[in-house]
Parts: sequence; structure tokens; C-alpha cells
Amino acid sequence: MSNYETVVGLEVHMQINTKSKVFCECSTEFGAEPNSNTCVICTSQPGAIPILNKKAVEEVIKTGLALGFTINKQCTFARKQYFYPDVPKNYQITQSEPPLCSKGKLSIFVDGKEKVVNITRIHLEEDAGKLVHEIGSRKLDYSLLDLNRASVGLMELVTEPELSSPEEALAFLTELRAIVRYIGASECNMEEGKMRCDVNVSVRPAGQKELGTRVEIKNMNSISGVRDAIAYESERQIEVLSRGGKLAQETRLWEADEGITKSMRSKEGALDYRYFPEPDLVPFNLTDSFIKECQAQIPELPKARKARFISQYGLSEYDADYLTSSKDIADYYEKGLNSCQNKKDLAKPLANWISTELSGKLNAQNKEIGAAPVSSANLAKLANLILNGTISGKIAKTVFEDMYESSSDPETIIKEKGLVQISDESALEKLCVEALAESPKAVAEFKAGKERAVGAIVGLVMKKSKGQANPQLVNKILLEKLKGG
Ligand code: ADP
Ligand code: ZN
Ligand code: MG
Repeated sequence: MSNYETVVGLEVHMQINTKSKVFCECSTEFGAEPNSNTCVICTSQPGAIPILNKKAVEEVIKTGLALGFTINKQCTFARKQYFYPDVPKNYQITQSEPPLCSKGKLSIFVDGKEKVVNITRIHLEEDAGKLVHEIGSRKLDYSLLDLNRASVGLMELVTEPELSSPEEALAFLTELRAIVRYIGASECNMEEGKMRCDVNVSVRPAGQKELGTRVEIKNMNSISGVRDAIAYESERQIEVLSRGGKLAQETRLWEADEGITKSMRSKEGALDYRYFPEPDLVPFNLTDSFIKECQAQIPELPKARKARFISQYGLSEYDADYLTSSKDIADYYEKGLNSCQNKKDLAKPLANWISTELSGKLNAQNKEIGAAPVSSANLAKLANLILNGTISGKIAKTVFEDMYESSSDPETIIKEKGLVQISDESALEKLCVEALAESPKAVAEFKAGKERAVGAIVGLVMKKSKGQANPQLVNKILLEKLKGG
């Protein structure tokens, strides 16, 4: 097996984040009543003229700029001919040459090593409608056509055949999705079909220059599926070649349940599509000022933001990685931090609260941070209440539970429930004396030189105070008493 290498190229379709479709004014809303978002243009009525959505072009250019592409100012469209019932006009409006963006790059990290992957192009095109073969679990013996998705704007990104493992493909798609979401060009939500991927896989004897015969796996709708399909497919191809067989250039389907690919059809050549210039959309040139405006809309990207989080806030690589994994999480963090004066002390604890308690709760409910019932300012306040000794870390967890349920302010909860930390020495001293009297074994152990035995007595005081005693102070008082005699 080891004397073959795997070669992968990806074609990624991402639904452009616009309110209306790319060639008409219909809504792009997901999940609307079938065929309710349609008009004469997107249902392909004869003589209807497409009108280009400027915002869609903007989002493609933003993506291209963020990935270091050369922007082609010439904006032209072409008809790609094919017959399929989900496209009533029998062609798709797309871009042939030039695409809006040529020659970009994306760097990925696999096993701690950086690899720069070249991306051939990004072009703008329209989506097709959807054939419906079942309603709920009922299989139909006819097909229904829903044109809500027809003419929704897509950007198609095509990589060079440079990825060389399932893990690299996974890293590429994960990083791409993070960047595209950061700039807001697409939601890249795979469950809603807003990011789809065709995977091209071939294998060749290690060291050979020429590429092997490629197989295309169509319409993958999960990133882990892409990884698994590549792993399966490259093994299948190596197996065929190793026993002297030949591979056909074909399109295959990924059967996720079985974990295998199945042959679908032999691959059409590019000529079959008979591209020709779209006569209803006149070529035009993008202006420099338009491209500059697109550039100005690009926010700080994840890699730069992560580096800044590490240098500015002193966060660990791990924390910075987690916090910048989505723009919403990073924004939540910085908003919380900026709502307080003591950013320096708060940076690390706030990061912890977000990456452990908050994300734990959100994950359990399958919620994004945007839907968090705890505001960033309130979470920062909670972390501060521990820092300034008002409550212990343990009590804070109870307060957090309450905040998550009620969305209230931590100070209100602490006041209402009387949870303020006891830092009054005389009150604590009383509890310490009691605890010492009840812990003869631990006291004896301490006196015999086992200093750690004090921990059990601290624990008892904490229990007596219902978690409200200031543990540092308790520790200090106990040590004084134990050492004092
Ligand atoms: P098509 O529309 O015919 O699929 P594209 O040019 O849009 O053609 O996409 C081809 C994709 O296949 C690119 O991502 C490219 O990197 C990849 N590719 C081409 N040849 C190979 C190969 N031999 N092995 C793996 N991937 C390949
Ligand atoms: Zn329409
Ligand atoms: Mg293809």
C-alpha cells in the first residue's frame, strides 16, 4: 500500500450569503414553502431576463481577496448546457473564462506542519432547483420539482490537485469554512446544503509525476464524510491497481451508511457542456473603487486574530485557537473583555469560562454562541467576582447555572441567594475551630509531618459554610492554628 500516493482536488460550492437570488429578486430563505420563492426569471420563463445581484459579486470578491486571489476585473457570464429536470431552461448561468478570481492560496496545518494549497479559481454561478422523490418517509412514484433554490447565487472554488491525504482535505475544508464564515460571504452550513463538495481522487505510484486516473465523488455534504470517502476511495483504487486492474474515469457516489463509494456514471468531458457567452448579461469591468470597497469590508481573519489574542492577552495557543474558531466566539470574548477594566487579569479566566462551562452547555443543547442566554458582559462580571474574592470558584459554577437559566446578572443572583463569599476572619475562625475538633485524625497526620492533611480540614470548613468560605483564608487560619499548637 505504501508505494502509492493519494492525490485529491476539491470543488467546493458555497451558497453566497445574500437576501435575494443572484439573477432575480426572489428570497433565498431556507425552508420556505416549495416554489414560494420563485418568479419568471428563476422558473426560466421564455424571454425573462436575468439581472445580476451586485452584493453576490461583492461577496465573491471579498472571498477572493481574503484568500490572496488575483481579481479579474472583467466580469463575464456563460451558459453551460445540460438537460436535467431541475433546471427548466436547460442551461446554467455560470462563468467560464475568466472566473472572477484566479490563483489563490490557503495554508493548512496537519500534524503541526504547514502546507500551502493552491486554489485554481473561484467563479460565480446559479444553483439548480431540487427534485423531491419522497414526502416525509413516503416514497413517491413520481417526482416533484421545487424551484426555491433555482438561481440562488453560488461561488464555486476549485483547488489544484495538491491535497495528499484525507486529513489534508479535512483541514482544508475546515479552514476554508472558518474564513468564509468570518467574512460573512457564506454561512457554509452543510446541513442546509450551503456548502457542498465534489471530491476528485486519484492514486499514483510514489514519485511518479503524471497524475493517475481520477474519480469524482459528487455532492458530499459533510466534512467528515469527505475525509472518509477519500480514505475509502484511495484504498479501493490502490487495491485495483495492485492487482493489475485499470481504473475508469467516472463519477461515484458516497454511500455514507455503508461507508463505500458506488459507480454512478462515466464522466462527461468538458466539451459536452458547450459553453457560450450568456447573451442576456453584458460583460462589464469591475472598477478599482468597487474592489477597494470589498477589501475594506474584510475583517481581521482567524489566523491574524489568533496571533493577536496570544500576544495581546497572553492566551495559550490552545485557548486562542478555540476562541478564534468562529468570529462569533471571538467577538463574544472580546466584547466581554472590553466591558471590564482589568483586561489583563480577566483574559485567561474569561477564556476558560467560554471554552469550558459555556461551550459545554451550548454544545449539549446544540446551540451556537449567538444564542447563548448569558451575555458576554455578565460572564465577564462573573469571572471578575471570583477574581476580587466576592465568590469562590465553586459557588461561581452554581451562579453560572442560574445565569444560564434566567439570563440574569450574577450580582443579582448572588445577592438574592446570599452567596457572597465569607471573608470575615472571625466568622471563619469559628468554623475552623469546629472543624479542627471534628478532625482528630487529620490533625494527628499533620503533626506527624504530613502537611497535605490540612486539605481535608479545609474541605470540612467549606462544607460547613456551604461552599461560601474563602478557601485561601481558611487555609491560612488553619495553618496558623495547627502550627501554633
Ligand atoms: P470538472 O468540472 O470536469 O470536474 P474542474 O476543473 O472543475 O473539472 O475540476 C477538476 C478538479 O479535479 C480540480 O479540483 C482538480 O484539482 C482535480 N483533479 C484533476 N485531475 C485530478 C487527478 N488526476 N487526481 C485528483 N484530482 C484531480
Ligand atoms: Zn426569482
Ligand atoms: Mg467536477
